Amino acid sequence: MWHKVALERVGPDGKGRGIWDYTISWDSGDDHQPRKYGACALGECDGHPSAREACEHERQRLLKTAKSVDFSNWGNCYVRGCDSPAKRGWEIPGERWTFHFCDKHNTKETLEAYVDVEESWGS
Ligand SMILES: [Zn+2]
Ligand SMILES: [Zn+2]
Repeated sequence: MWHKVALERVGPDGKGRGIWDYTISWDSGDDHQPRKYGACALGECDGHPSAREACEHERQRLLKTAKSVDFSNWGNCYVRGCDSPAKRGWEIPGERWTFHFCDKHNTKETLEAYVDVEESWGS
């Protein structure tokens, strides 16, 4: 089981340093230490002043990796309240996230509204 969350760096005195990174940790194995993950692990930032900004950094990375796709199966449009049949949309390969959007909603702007990065767990 993994746990992804924005965490504040802690100094040798045990106090938070006001610098946040997006991180991952595993609850199995010997190594429970959270380590930088995703955007914050790429060396393009040196932490963020808040958890929200660390999450936003990862969100922007995911949006950059998103690919427009033609799915082989039909789905319902992901947009709340729409439900139209949809065969196209977007995929975020690293996260195995897919979003079906109907022709009316199939834009990068719609995707941006639905990709959210916050604390999450998975296996
Ligand atoms: Zn970052
Ligand atoms: Zn739609």
